[in-house]
Amino acid sequence: MTDQEIRAEAERRASDRTDQEIIRKTLDEGVQTVWDRFALQQPQCGFGQLGVCCNNCAMGPCRIDPFGGKTSLGVCGANVDTIVARNLLDDLSVGAAAHSDHGREVVQVLLETAEGHGQGYQIKDVEKLHRLATEYGIQTDGRATNDIAKDLALGILEEYGTIKNRIQLAERAPEQTKEIWRKTGIMPRSIDREIVEAMHRIHMGVDADYVNLLLHAMRTSLSDGWGGSMAATECSDILFGTPTPLTSITNLATLSREKVNIVLHGHNPLLSQMIVNVAEDPDLKRMAEEKGAKGINLVGMCCTGNELLMRSGIPLAGSFFDQELAIATGAVEAMVVDYQCIYHSIPLTAGCYHTKVFTTSTKGKISGTIYKEFKPENARDTAHEIIKLAIENFPNRNPDRVRIPERPMKVMAGFSEETIRKALGGTYKPLIDAIVAGTIRGCVGIVGCNNPRIKQDYGHITLAKELIKRNILVVETGCSAIACGKAGLLVPEAADLAGEGLASVCRLLGIPPVLHMGSCVDCSRILVLAANIAKELGVGIGDLPIGGAAPEWYSQKAISIGTYFVSSGVYTVLGIPPKIFGSSNVLNLLADGVKGITNSAFAVEPDPLKTADLLEAEINRKRKALNI
Ligand code: SF4
Ligand code: SF4
Repeated sequence: MTDQEIRAEAERRASDRTDQEIIRKTLDEGVQTVWDRFALQQPQCGFGQLGVCCNNCAMGPCRIDPFGGKTSLGVCGANVDTIVARNLLDDLSVGAAAHSDHGREVVQVLLETAEGHGQGYQIKDVEKLHRLATEYGIQTDGRATNDIAKDLALGILEEYGTIKNRIQLAERAPEQTKEIWRKTGIMPRSIDREIVEAMHRIHMGVDADYVNLLLHAMRTSLSDGWGGSMAATECSDILFGTPTPLTSITNLATLSREKVNIVLHGHNPLLSQMIVNVAEDPDLKRMAEEKGAKGINLVGMCCTGNELLMRSGIPLAGSFFDQELAIATGAVEAMVVDYQCIYHSIPLTAGCYHTKVFTTSTKGKISGTIYKEFKPENARDTAHEIIKLAIENFPNRNPDRVRIPERPMKVMAGFSEETIRKALGGTYKPLIDAIVAGTIRGCVGIVGCNNPRIKQDYGHITLAKELIKRNILVVETGCSAIACGKAGLLVPEAADLAGEGLASVCRLLGIPPVLHMGSCVDCSRILVLAANIAKELGVGIGDLPIGGAAPEWYSQKAISIGTYFVSSGVYTVLGIPPKIFGSSNVLNLLADGVKGITNSAFAVEPDPLKTADLLEAEINRKRKALNI
């Protein structure tokens, strides 16, 4: 490729200037990345894209002819609606399991901390602990913090496989929303139970009714959003503190030329937060200096990065598509991963440089990496050991192959639901008044990933800019929040890009028009925000002038998030088509039929500008129904 071609290709792949710079380096050096592997996979299978193939049993794989040919049934007799709905439930359950199992680990560490076994952990947000304990009917007066925490952790853990058929946190939804769930039979009963039942229904010869399958998909997603994910968020806050607004920096320029760079990547803050604490050890700092470095530079990646950013202000190097690019700067001594969204080929990328990759979870091993098992009882020792190994790797850095972009972008993050409410004076009334007056038209949650089907971050940034221009407040989590951070939208000055009404509110409060609410599991914060506003207004979530969007999603977790949004009453637009277009029945139910149940639905629109039109139209529809 000529220099000009390389430049054009980098601009085609990513929106951010620092990403483009390092993509050019990978193309120059012949280092394979996600975009190259995507190109090599073309053309991708059309049956798979439509969702009409099934590999569930040894009589298959089967595929249905989407053009109405002879193969209209699988060997077992399953029709296209069953196969498409079953595949969707399968994907969604994987996503719900990923969030909820992450949540379980956090609750377990809370339990072990309360019992005195968690090395280096402590309960940071006692007030939140008491609030949650009260929700669970646990006595708090005159009791020791650890005793309360133990009862709470056991209470939440019990809900994973409960026989009481109720998830306490789901009680936070407004009565009108819960009534819909009860009437439709999708009130989540427990977290593990819904996922296990989904697996059962998917088995050959069980559930063949696509409506029944999709209703269970909704119930399973609710057990994630109002169960597993919410447990992850709440217990992480109890252990590490509920986020409050702070400023930091983002993009690949957060890596340091002079310090030992450690990238903390994945989703769960349990080990990475410990690394943040241990990195303050003066002995480690001295050791880094002895190796010729000017200190230790910790940066976050993906949702682990979001967790660290919003609680500790740790700089955020980037999102899902930045994991290889960070390594390709040639300046990363260690990448520490827990699980989810880690490329399995990351050791191959690291092998092109001096980077050491550490896997830390017994459920997330990758061959070619250094495995340092994380357990709550050895968390501090493991963190110490990993940092030490990273420091020892510093002299192996080849300065001739290092390229670190200039100019990190400033971000403001840490907008938990509690913080937003506090900033408004302890009640949502000022926000509701602004919405009623039309100063703010409504609110949209933009969430989700990167996907090579779309230029990295283009969907997130374009949609967010368009919505704020139309006086629609944007809240974000996951890689979407990182994309807008890199684009300079997470700072109060971005109010200049917003419509007059929204801009005036942002300037008054000193906040950005796009609020960073955390990691993927923190989409549960968006649910609580919506629930509390709805309760103050005396309506259901489905009545609010709000919406959701996932312009660049890739993950099964995003399917679960989108479905719990819709099931809770939030109209949601997907930028990447889900694999359901092989069944018009499934498609119609999700894009239309579900409206009659939750007053919300899915839409698919790859163009972010048209997505803004759809969301604005939905907000106007809801405003009209509310008479505002
Ligand atoms: S479950 Fe039915 S459709 Fe699926 S592979 Fe087996 S026989 Fe084929
Ligand atoms: S938004 Fe998507 S890609 Fe990003 S960390 Fe979350 S699940 Fe992974």
